[in-house]
Amino acid sequence: MSYTRETLAAVERILAERKTAAESQQLERTEQIIAEIPAVAVLRRKLASTMTEVIKSLGSGGDAGSLIKDISEKNLEIQKEIGDLLEAKGYERDFLETKYTCPDCKDTGYINGDSCSCRLALLKEVAFGSLRSNSPVGRASFDNFRLDYYPDEPDEATGVSPRARMEQVYNFCKNYAEDFDLDSDSLYLWGSTGLGKTHLASAIAGEVAKNGYQVIFDSSSNLLRRLEKEHFSSSRDNANDGAQDELIRCDLLIIDDFGTEFCTQFTVSAVYNVINSRLNRNLPVIINSNLDIEAVEKIYSERIASRIIGNYRYIQFFGSDIRQIKKNY
Ligand SMILES: [Zn+2]
Repeated sequence: MSYTRETLAAVERILAERKTAAESQQLERTEQIIAEIPAVAVLRRKLASTMTEVIKSLGSGGDAGSLIKDISEKNLEIQKEIGDLLEAKGYERDFLETKYTCPDCKDTGYINGDSCSCRLALLKEVAFGSLRSNSPVGRASFDNFRLDYYPDEPDEATGVSPRARMEQVYNFCKNYAEDFDLDSDSLYLWGSTGLGKTHLASAIAGEVAKNGYQVIFDSSSNLLRRLEKEHFSSSRDNANDGAQDELIRCDLLIIDDFGTEFCTQFTVSAVYNVINSRLNRNLPVIINSNLDIEAVEKIYSERIASRIIGNYRYIQFFGSDIRQIKKNY
């Protein structure tokens, strides 16, 4: 599983903030208690001095094992005394301990060099969060996809209703999202505008991101704008730096509204480059479009169309424009 530089940096920042907050709150609590219960300060000094005793005694050839045992017994006693004093004043016994968000790793994010579960959870959260900010992913899920928006009357030509067909499409997408891994197929979701392609693609994005994969979901015009900025910008510290790299390397790339952007020589070659590079790396892409393949060939190029035909699963959406129906509900 890979995450963007931004996600990794954001997670380190959150962990550092948690740790700093926990430790400075502990200092504040200590100052407050020492002012209120001076006896605690005396006991804390005793606690610190037992350590010095150990070091001194070891230097003069004392028996390390029994000494450490004595000292830790003494320490426990002092800690118990501090707890009693705190309790007597109405505080929790562990009031002076540092309260980390994650006691396992003390908010460092690592245990013996391995990622702590709290760091892994944060990575998912941040990746999913950033993905939510620029897409409808947070709102559209499999749970709120309404099959009853699709006509139940059998289609004259096929005898199958749009609703029955869309139920198959829905089930396919749901299984795809649940079983997603880096070997998953690339999909070409095709159908007129307003048939729920964006909703189901968003639902896939949400589910896949929740499972820890890095998903980029955006409209093709936004994605191309980022690529364009990166390509034509002279500054090296541009915010769009690495845009192409991210699109090529992320675990799942979802291109919404493919074919609605303004086509130039640059966009045609940028689209080809992303699609082809991901194909070479065997990384899945989902393309949403109301263009059939002939139109893709005409608008973009034969090269792009042939990559899609040869390597994508073609999923057709059916029904009347459900955005029209939704308005009447
Ligand atoms: Zn942790």
